[in-house]
Parts: sequence; structure tokens; C-alpha cells
Amino acid sequence: MKIINRNEVIFKFIYFILIALTGVFISMYSSDSTVIVIFIVIPIFYIVLAFRKELRRFRIVKKKFPTGLKEIIGEYSKFYNHLEDAGKRKFERDITIFLNEHSIRGLRGEETDLRTKALVATGVATILHGREDWEPPFTDGVVVYPGETFDPDYNLYKGQIAGMAGERRPLLVTKEILEKSFKDPDDGYNSLIHEIAHYFDFENPYMSGVPLIGSDKEMTKEWLRTMEKEREKVNKGKSFLRPYAGSNEAEFFAVATESFFERPDEMKEKNPKLYELLRGFYNIDMEELFRDKK
Ligand SMILES: [Zn+2]
Repeated sequence: MKIINRNEVIFKFIYFILIALTGVFISMYSSDSTVIVIFIVIPIFYIVLAFRKELRRFRIVKKKFPTGLKEIIGEYSKFYNHLEDAGKRKFERDITIFLNEHSIRGLRGEETDLRTKALVATGVATILHGREDWEPPFTDGVVVYPGETFDPDYNLYKGQIAGMAGERRPLLVTKEILEKSFKDPDDGYNSLIHEIAHYFDFENPYMSGVPLIGSDKEMTKEWLRTMEKEREKVNKGKSFLRPYAGSNEAEFFAVATESFFERPDEMKEKNPKLYELLRGFYNIDMEELFRDKK
């Protein structure tokens, strides 16, 4: 996450210039002082409104990162613990921005505890770490259900659903599975990372299981070839990925992402092509990050 996104700022600045020029033009042909004052006030008002996100981010990241959050992240995130100091600061900054701009609430809108917030933010900061220009892909916050699972009718403590990602709706996770996801950092299972990966998949409306990897057709073909080969192995019980990856293309991408962030050495050894594709997409060499520091 960036405090200032260059493209956004340029866009806003162009708007500002257009508004200001309109004001100058109207003022030139008007002798009414009220009109002139209005067109001086409007551009100033626009600047304050348009840049409030950037101003807020500047303000919040200057504050000291809370010790309570730092302790939880240090306890649960292998990723954070393996980062250099600069990486740790960026991770903390992303967590601060995320928690400030996104709601993490219980089923009835109630506040969640600090550990739940910290774990959700840790998952987000992990998956976004390599791409500074990325923002959290969901806009409606996170809802944390009690218990471990719910069913397709959203009945609590039933069914087998542990999390759900949907376009233009909040990310759903269950509290117990969220905790299990971070308890063992090496088991290749992280429900939160899995669900966030689904949002990246939604960004490509044309092909399930293939995130937007640029306009390179060859790259898309390679992705499809690599995915199909490994999916065949999954369905024969011969893959390092868990069987759920065989459900469909979207689940393959989500499960492979979990494995990439938690067991990168295994993926690199068993399927270097898949590892390279994910390394390119997430822009981070997970195997190198975890190497010799296990
Ligand atoms: Zn899934």
C-alpha cells in the first residue's frame, strides 16, 4: 500500500487545474465579487477533499506502531519475523493503514478483539507486501463469524465453510479457522490468504483461476498449462498441494497461493514453474525469504 499513488495524484491534480481554470475564466467575465470568491473557494475545497486519503495516511503512519499489535504479529507471523528492518516497517505501515481504513467486525457489527484484527491485517499485509501499488482487493471490510464453520445458508457452527470471498461484499472468515491458519506457519494452510487470493482471481473476469497477469497471451497460456498439469496430479493424489486444489481452477489458485506463502521451498522443489509464476505475480521470492531462517 502506498501513501501516495502517483497515478491517482496526477489524475486529481488534472481535475484541480480544470476547476481552477474554469474559476479564472468565469471570474474574468464576471464583476460579481461573490462569484469570484466562490471560484476561489471551490478549488481549495476540492484539494482538501481529494487529498484527504493521502493526508490521513501521512498522519497515521507517523504514529508509533502499537506495542500490543507488534507482539501479536511477532508471535504469529513467520513472514514478518523474516523481514529485514525496512521490510518490517513497511509491514507495520500496511497494517496501520489497513486497520484504519477497513472494518473488521463480528456478525452483528460488534467490535472484534485486538488479536483477531491483528491476524486479519497480518494476512493482508503478507499477500500485498511484494506489490507496493496494490491495495486490499476488498472494499466492504471483513466479517468474522464465531466458531469454526458455517453452512451455505450462513447457519453458524454447521456445514464446512470456513471463509468466503465474494465480489462487492465483505470477506467472511471464522474466528477459529483464522486462529488455526496462523498457529502453524509451515502447514501450507491459511484460510485468510486463501480467501484474499480469490479476490485477485475475480479481477480477471475472463478466466477463473488465472489472475490478471498482464496482456501477455503467452504468459496466460503458460499459467493455464502449469495449472492443468498440477491439477491432474492433485486429482490423482500425487501433488504436494492439498486435495481441495483439485475442486476447480479458482480453488487451485487459492490453495497454490497458500502453499506459496507457507511452504515455498516445497513448491520450488516440486513444481519450479508454478513457483516462478506465483513469485512473479506476488513479486516476492518466498523461498529466499524463508531460506536458512527456519
Ligand atoms: Zn476457496
